[in-house]
Amino acid sequence: KVITLKDLCLVTKTAQMAANIHGGRAKCLQRLIRLDMPVPTTVALSFDAVRAIAAGQVADIPQILRHFEENPLLSVRPSSMDPDWGGPGAMLNIGMNDAKHAQLCETLGEDPATRLYMRYIQSFAVEVARLDPEEFYLPDQPSLAALKAMLATYETEMDAEFPQDAGEQLGEVLRSMARTWEGTTARLLRQAKGAPADAGLGLVVQEMALAMGPGISGSGVIQFVDNTTGTAQINGRFAPQATHTEIIRDSANAIYLTRDPRGPSLEDEAPDAFQKLIEFGALGRIRLREEMEIKFILRDGELTILDAIRVQRSSRAAVRIAVDLATSGVIAKEDAVMRVQPAALSELLHRQVDRRAKRDFLVRGIAASPGAASGRLVFSANEAQASAAREEPCVLVRRETTPEDIRGMHAAAAVVTLRGGVTSHAAVIGRGMGLPCIVGAADMDIDEKKREITVPDGRTFQAGDMVTVDGTTGQMLAGQPAMLEAALDDAFQTLLSWADAVRDIGIRANADTPADAQTARNFEAEGIGLCRTEHMFFDGDRVDLMREMIFAETPEGLGAVLERLLPLQRADFKDLFRIMQGLPVCIRLFDAPLHEFLPVGKSGMRELAEVLDVPLAQITARVDDLSEYNPMLGQRGVRLGISVPEIYDMQARAIFEATAAASETSGAIVPEIMIPLVSAMREVELVQSRIDAVAAAVRTETGVDFEYKLGVMVETPRAALRAEDIAEHAAFLSFGTNDLTQMTYGLSRDDAGKFMSDYVKQQVYEEDPFHTLDLEGVGELLKLGAERGRRGRPDVTLSICGEHGGDTNAIAFCRAQGFDYVSCSPFRVPVARLSAAQLAL
Ligand code: PEP
Ligand code: MG
Repeated sequence: KVITLKDLCLVTKTAQMAANIHGGRAKCLQRLIRLDMPVPTTVALSFDAVRAIAAGQVADIPQILRHFEENPLLSVRPSSMDPDWGGPGAMLNIGMNDAKHAQLCETLGEDPATRLYMRYIQSFAVEVARLDPEEFYLPDQPSLAALKAMLATYETEMDAEFPQDAGEQLGEVLRSMARTWEGTTARLLRQAKGAPADAGLGLVVQEMALAMGPGISGSGVIQFVDNTTGTAQINGRFAPQATHTEIIRDSANAIYLTRDPRGPSLEDEAPDAFQKLIEFGALGRIRLREEMEIKFILRDGELTILDAIRVQRSSRAAVRIAVDLATSGVIAKEDAVMRVQPAALSELLHRQVDRRAKRDFLVRGIAASPGAASGRLVFSANEAQASAAREEPCVLVRRETTPEDIRGMHAAAAVVTLRGGVTSHAAVIGRGMGLPCIVGAADMDIDEKKREITVPDGRTFQAGDMVTVDGTTGQMLAGQPAMLEAALDDAFQTLLSWADAVRDIGIRANADTPADAQTARNFEAEGIGLCRTEHMFFDGDRVDLMREMIFAETPEGLGAVLERLLPLQRADFKDLFRIMQGLPVCIRLFDAPLHEFLPVGKSGMRELAEVLDVPLAQITARVDDLSEYNPMLGQRGVRLGISVPEIYDMQARAIFEATAAASETSGAIVPEIMIPLVSAMREVELVQSRIDAVAAAVRTETGVDFEYKLGVMVETPRAALRAEDIAEHAAFLSFGTNDLTQMTYGLSRDDAGKFMSDYVKQQVYEEDPFHTLDLEGVGELLKLGAERGRRGRPDVTLSICGEHGGDTNAIAFCRAQGFDYVSCSPFRVPVARLSAAQLAL
């Protein structure tokens, strides 16, 4: 069968062509032609035509060739819908044969003509005929004898002469490129980049502009911005007497584009052509509304434009380019907001492994907290602290984290755990601190006694060895690859201010400490949506105070500990109010799963016995007493508040005393107090009446009249079901989707990492529900809880504050349900601001 003219579309000024019929390259070339740029004759084959060729139809070569001169030299390039999806490599100089070689020997000289022919035979043999590349190497010095030998090798391998007919060559090239696109490897590669399963390939056949000849002849690329920073700057190369493949392979003889004291430049050698390139660049930027890289050819000073593609760019450059295009009026601000991937912003917030750096891969885990850091391996919090004292960055590796490790995390540059999932403790703390973190790296072995790890390829690394944690990809690497620094520059701020102008849902931060709050403010969070007060006690010696509280056996003992806790809490809250400058601050009363605070192992208990100055046996007995089979479902959250109400009393007092004090300097502050892990309305009633009493007492004692809001965290399915009566006692409901996911699925947050990848691989779950909010199940509870909550109190404030808060799909869901805000870790605030804006546009 033959492909008819209907399937071909001549790229002319009149042809209608869209990227989704012929691909992005064809569309772009068409636009360059419309802009009167000197583009050689080009023919485009549609996705359908290429599909038919891949399926075995013979391309209608005469129909293609009739658009070109007699005996042309042609190139074929891929044209998929999105250039990032890749495709087969370009084939150049199709039509080269013995006769053409003889002719070029006359015009170009024997050496360049022979080099050109040999290079063509080489790529045809390897890329099209799929012969062994070893058999077709190019000698440094081409010669007629070498050419003859190469043609002979081809003939031996193929049992046929090297095709001399341009049409036959073109047919073979088209068939080979079409087939490559349909191959499994290519398919998997592009699907990994987001291409749909049925993505099509267009092909663009173009007349070659010869880059060799008299005067100034050669190939070049030019772009007008820097790929890494996105700032305006002419970059590129020009290689005299060389084809485009050669410029990329070897730039040894390339010259500068702009005038340069180090050597000759295109600007000096071909000023007219250079000037035209600058004009075409400016025109392309305005009319294609994008920063383009232009490929061009000069032949005796005459300029031909072969192609223009979107400039490859780092995340940082993507932001700068979008902002600059909008600032100069080429695109609208809204377009700029839409052009930057939210995930790309996240890269800018942290140091990253330079994409160009070589990676010596060790092990992969769950990418729990983005950013990268290098350091020497340590295996305990003490070692981490010692390392920090020596100002030596370290990477803390633990099987899982315990309270001791939190100190280590503060001292470490990065953390890796063998167990745990995205909401495990190490992960939550790591994200909050902006510390690169990998959890669930279960393929690695750890020998804590020998202080070493063994990675899947059998290599062993000891304490003190240098490794790098890439928390963005979840990979641990050996050594110290090159890094890119965080880049929160003016373009970043500008883009986010445009995003804020269109955003229609609030973004708050989960911030536990004054340091977190400062980060949240720096990223312009609109308040604190969750302050986990127990996290204020992870630091340094404070954890012992918390343990003392948990271990107190008598009311007097408890009273004494609470008295010491009160001033610390008060000072923390005052700091939070000061930093947040009147923005809402939502403080959650203690929700300390006991296992996170109990000492671990003999040495941990001995240490605690020393701190508390009691016999070890007493500690062991008390630990036994307090141990729970299911601590996540044990005496957590409000349950502790109900059975030991003095603890919440102390916290309420600290909040109100801080409110009274801060209100004097920062204006009236209305703190929000949140009760965790509620499952029954009566819990709220009981806590509310005690907190009201504390508020009244503090008002009287201080003489300051303040307001406060009491709210409830909806983290148990029952709280969602009973949201109507709960809301009668709650000014706001904040959905804690970590626990709500755990309890809806009956899936342990701390253990699910073990089998989650099996579940996702076998598509039991589409994705890890702790990572991506499960809209079908957990989402249903959120919807129902929101509806019932509104029934109980029509103006109830609704939000989510689990780890899903910064995720695009969770934000989209919350917008659709009319929630007031989402709250996420401070470092995700910018990403959430951009995602929310894109959803609103
Ligand atoms: C939650 O459960 O979603 C939550 C925010 O609380 P935590 O992660 O502290 O349990
Ligand atoms: Mg919770």
